[in-house]
Amino acid sequence: MNSLKTDVIVIGCGPGGAQTARNLSRRGFSVALLDYRLNVGDKLCTGIVGTEMLNHYPEVSNYVLNRSRSANIHCDKDYFLTIEKDTTQALIIDREKFIRNIALEAEDSGTILRLQRLVSNFEISENGVEVYAKYNGDIEKYNSDVLVIASGYGSKLAKRAGFGLSKHYIYGYQTKLNNVDVDKVNVFSGDPLPKGHFGWVVPTSKNKGYCGVLGKEKLRNNGLEFLSDMQQKFNFDIEEKTKVWGIPISPVDKKSRNRSLLVGDVAGQVKPTTGGGIYFAMRSADVAAEVINDSLLTRDFSEEHFNSYSRKWNNIFKNELRIGFFARQFYESLNSDDIKNILSHIEESDLISKDINFDWHSKIVMMAFKTKIKSYLKGKMLRKFKSLTFN
Ligand SMILES: Cc1cc2nc3c(=O)[nH]c(=O)nc-3n(C[C@H](O)[C@H](O)[C@H](O)COP(=O)(O)OP(=O)(O)OC[C@H]3O[C@@H](n4cnc5c(N)ncnc54)[C@H](O)[C@@H]3O)c2cc1C
Repeated sequence: MNSLKTDVIVIGCGPGGAQTARNLSRRGFSVALLDYRLNVGDKLCTGIVGTEMLNHYPEVSNYVLNRSRSANIHCDKDYFLTIEKDTTQALIIDREKFIRNIALEAEDSGTILRLQRLVSNFEISENGVEVYAKYNGDIEKYNSDVLVIASGYGSKLAKRAGFGLSKHYIYGYQTKLNNVDVDKVNVFSGDPLPKGHFGWVVPTSKNKGYCGVLGKEKLRNNGLEFLSDMQQKFNFDIEEKTKVWGIPISPVDKKSRNRSLLVGDVAGQVKPTTGGGIYFAMRSADVAAEVINDSLLTRDFSEEHFNSYSRKWNNIFKNELRIGFFARQFYESLNSDDIKNILSHIEESDLISKDINFDWHSKIVMMAFKTKIKSYLKGKMLRKFKSLTFN
């Protein structure tokens, strides 16, 4: 069996894996980037990212389908509030093209991109990493010093390397639409959605869009009831049948071992409030690349060295995700009347005028709990809130 030897093997060419490969190739390391898909980046996703993406990954501006500075927030069928800001808050991007471009740029910098490779097994020993991938009925072998597992939600590969999986998941259902005559992002809670879920109708480009639902429960008929309601309301056509995929909403405790680390959804590096993971996967990839860079330069592949990834990551993200997770649990505890009261309070208060960051939610969440929204914290949630603020 022929084998390919590189400094690093990255499994998974989503935003996390592609960005890790691009970053490391640009630093001059050899990288093999493996994915079982043929169409890179073609994974269920709405493609909404905050404008902060432009600061870190300015090329994203080439993939913007739509911009959003306002949103209609609906609750049940009788309440809605429009939130409008002066500047663009979010970009709706062509995720597939954006990620394909990252992968191509990684290739231009030397990454060996191998598609239609299903990684079936690997071994990590003191001497290095061996990865086995199925391709065209054959098994290919890859060798490296370092392994990056960026294989997304629910991947069994992390377990094989001795890592745990995220303890909390939600499910995202999404349908591609045609003839969408909607000019804003529309977000829904309450009837007919189960408690703790939210839905959306998002215009992308040229009368296209997405309708989706996200929440803890598996929905009957893939959320057909909500889709039908939305179709009646907005009169769109359905372009493709509904798809479903999971989203981890709490980070795994252990993200690194000797010679190996996890990046992106497989590590639960996702905003727990909205389930958005593109930006955090890419930022986490940059932290991972920094640690791998040092490891390759010093030839230190020890667990101790790789644990600096967890430490650096925790410094940037841990508190943010902890508060975001609390905010999600709070939302899940509310009934429709609570939500309407809270939205009315938000409308009357100056919260909307505050500097709301699309990606970093902890500041606005803590600000909100300084208002009368705090009175909706009951029992277990109130106790959790107290321990959150004292930690
Ligand atoms: C309905 C829905 C809507 C969403 N909307 C948004 C949004 O608007 N904005 C946002 O930021 N996030 C959104 N997300 C989340 C976002 O899509 C993910 O957080 C993000 O894609 C995570 O990136 P990743 O690189 O970690 O994993 P992924 O994008 O899942 O990439 C993992 C890659 O690994 C490959 N792979 C897996 N196993 C193997 C294997 N054994 N061998 C080889 N390759 C393998 C897969 O083919 C895949 O390409 C949404 C998710 C859902 C479900």
